[in-house]
Amino acid sequence: MVIPCQASRNSLYLDPYGNLYPCIVWDRRLGHVRDGVKNVLSSDGVAGARKLIDSGKCPVCWNACEVIPTLLTSWRMPGCVMWSLLHR
Ligand code: SF4
Repeated sequence: MVIPCQASRNSLYLDPYGNLYPCIVWDRRLGHVRDGVKNVLSSDGVAGARKLIDSGKCPVCWNACEVIPTLLTSWRMPGCVMWSLLHR
Protein backbone atom coordinates (compact mmCIF):
# COMPACT_ATOMS: atom_id res chain seq x y z
CA MET A 1 0.00 0.00 0.00
CA VAL A 2 1.35 3.40 -0.97
CA ILE A 3 0.57 6.29 1.33
CA PRO A 4 0.38 9.54 -0.66
CA CYS A 5 2.73 12.20 0.59
CA GLN A 6 0.91 14.97 2.44
CA ALA A 7 3.24 17.77 1.29
CA SER A 8 1.20 20.88 0.42
CA ARG A 9 -1.56 19.57 2.68
CA ASN A 10 0.22 19.38 6.02
CA SER A 11 2.90 21.91 5.19
CA LEU A 12 4.56 24.13 2.61
CA TYR A 13 8.21 24.94 2.17
CA LEU A 14 9.03 28.65 2.52
CA ASP A 15 12.32 29.78 0.98
CA PRO A 16 14.28 32.81 2.26
CA TYR A 17 12.68 35.02 -0.44
CA GLY A 18 9.10 34.27 0.52
CA ASN A 19 8.39 31.74 -2.23
CA LEU A 20 6.23 28.76 -1.34
CA TYR A 21 6.79 25.21 -2.58
CA PRO A 22 5.09 21.87 -1.83
CA CYS A 23 8.23 20.64 -0.08
CA ILE A 24 11.96 21.23 0.18
CA VAL A 25 12.69 18.71 -2.62
CA TRP A 26 10.35 19.79 -5.42
CA ASP A 27 11.21 22.98 -7.32
CA ARG A 28 7.58 23.73 -8.19
CA ARG A 29 6.82 27.26 -7.04
CA LEU A 30 3.25 27.62 -5.80
CA GLY A 31 3.22 31.31 -4.95
CA HIS A 32 4.57 33.91 -2.57
CA VAL A 33 3.67 34.73 1.01
CA ARG A 34 2.65 38.21 -0.19
CA ASP A 35 -0.13 36.50 -2.20
CA GLY A 36 -1.53 35.27 1.13
CA VAL A 37 -1.00 31.71 2.25
CA LYS A 38 -4.76 31.02 2.24
CA ASN A 39 -4.97 32.19 -1.37
CA VAL A 40 -1.99 30.07 -2.37
CA LEU A 41 -3.47 27.00 -0.65
CA SER A 42 -6.73 27.40 -2.58
CA SER A 43 -5.01 28.08 -5.91
CA ASP A 44 -5.05 25.92 -9.03
CA GLY A 45 -1.29 25.55 -8.63
CA VAL A 46 -1.66 23.78 -5.30
CA ALA A 47 -4.54 21.67 -6.59
CA GLY A 48 -2.38 20.61 -9.54
CA ALA A 49 0.58 19.83 -7.30
CA ARG A 50 -1.61 17.69 -5.03
CA LYS A 51 -2.89 15.73 -8.03
CA LEU A 52 0.66 15.08 -9.20
CA ILE A 53 1.72 14.02 -5.69
CA ASP A 54 -1.24 11.65 -5.36
CA SER A 55 -0.43 10.06 -8.72
CA GLY A 56 3.27 9.68 -7.91
CA LYS A 57 4.38 12.28 -10.45
CA CYS A 58 6.28 14.54 -8.07
CA PRO A 59 10.02 13.82 -7.72
CA VAL A 60 9.07 11.15 -5.11
CA CYS A 61 11.45 10.91 -2.21
CA TRP A 62 11.91 9.80 1.38
CA ASN A 63 12.09 13.25 2.92
CA ALA A 64 11.86 12.99 6.69
CA CYS A 65 10.23 16.43 6.82
CA GLU A 66 7.23 14.99 4.98
CA VAL A 67 7.37 11.27 5.72
CA ILE A 68 6.81 11.55 9.46
CA PRO A 69 3.82 13.94 9.24
CA THR A 70 2.39 11.82 6.42
CA LEU A 71 2.62 8.65 8.49
CA LEU A 72 1.26 10.36 11.58
CA THR A 73 -1.82 11.58 9.71
CA SER A 74 -2.45 8.40 7.74
CA TRP A 75 -5.73 6.84 8.84
CA ARG A 76 -5.11 3.95 6.47
CA MET A 77 -2.19 2.52 8.40
CA PRO A 78 -2.55 3.11 12.15
CA GLY A 79 0.61 1.03 12.72
CA CYS A 80 2.52 3.82 11.00
CA VAL A 81 1.88 6.08 13.95
CA MET A 82 3.69 3.65 16.25
CA TRP A 83 6.47 3.16 13.69
CA SER A 84 6.91 6.92 13.39
CA LEU A 85 7.11 7.38 17.12
CA LEU A 86 9.64 4.57 17.52
CA HIS A 87 11.92 5.68 14.66
CA ARG A 88 12.00 9.46 14.97
S1 SF4 B 1 7.19 12.68 -2.09
FE1 SF4 B 1 8.99 14.00 -1.73
S2 SF4 B 1 9.18 15.20 -3.61
FE2 SF4 B 1 7.11 14.38 -3.57
S3 SF4 B 1 5.89 16.01 -2.62
FE3 SF4 B 1 6.47 14.55 -1.02
S4 SF4 B 1 8.33 15.42 -0.11
FE4 SF4 B 1 8.02 16.40 -2.11
